[in-house]
Amino acid sequence: MDSENTGQGRRQRLYRLSALILRRRDMGEADRLLTVFGRDRGKLTLLAKGVRRQASRKAGHLEPFTYAELLIAKGKSLDLVTQAETIEPHRRVREDLWRSSWAYYVVELADAFTQEADPNDLLFDLLLATLGRLDDLSADPALAVRYYELHLLALAGYQPQLFRCVQCNELLKPEVNFMSLDSGGCLCPRHGASRGDTIALSLPLLKVLRYLQSREWAEVARLRLSPEVSRQLEALLARYIVYHLERSLRSPAFLEKLRKVVAETPREVAAQQME
Ligand SMILES: [Zn+2]
Repeated sequence: MDSENTGQGRRQRLYRLSALILRRRDMGEADRLLTVFGRDRGKLTLLAKGVRRQASRKAGHLEPFTYAELLIAKGKSLDLVTQAETIEPHRRVREDLWRSSWAYYVVELADAFTQEADPNDLLFDLLLATLGRLDDLSADPALAVRYYELHLLALAGYQPQLFRCVQCNELLKPEVNFMSLDSGGCLCPRHGASRGDTIALSLPLLKVLRYLQSREWAEVARLRLSPEVSRQLEALLARYIVYHLERSLRSPAFLEKLRKVVAETPREVAAQQME
């Protein structure tokens, strides 16, 4: 009876987690703090002891962007990773500087928009799919990241309204319309043109935004954007993201870096965060 109780107690202190490793930082002489995103538990901070020792068997399974199966022991303050097994290494993302700089941007954005221990399986699926796209040599990384940004905004509760005027609710006509960051979507010319805080949206740009928001990735992946529309799309989404992150104030340091996105490319911004 006693041993049975003890066994049950042990099981309760251990749990399994399928998780994406978002980032890591060194702690003490041989340990690392990991930020992971689990399908069932959301974002968590875990302690991986001894992983910087050469003989560590866990280390290779706990690299950033790896999708791994973890066995975790509940700790007093931090939970401990006791075993790790790679499910999907996303090897090309890790080995290619260009692709990993996109991936750093993707995970930082997820980090900035989420709080600890707030489960979000749709966001987990979006993150996993996006890292898979960045790992896929046939996919356009910029398009994969734009798709991710729009869908992340939706999951975070900031989905921009792209089909109707947010003021009069009329369907938008095929002409130059306006985007209001503050009102969370588009305005018709009658309500948007005279406001000082709106951004003019060309018809091609609005069409691309709608396509990204409403279509499956398999369809979006076939898009070929002109450099001009691609640049406008990147700048618009960056402004939209900065605006909403600023209001939620979850990650001021990241926000500071992201502000530069409006002028620079994500590659350059993300590359500054490389280890
Ligand atoms: Zn209107």
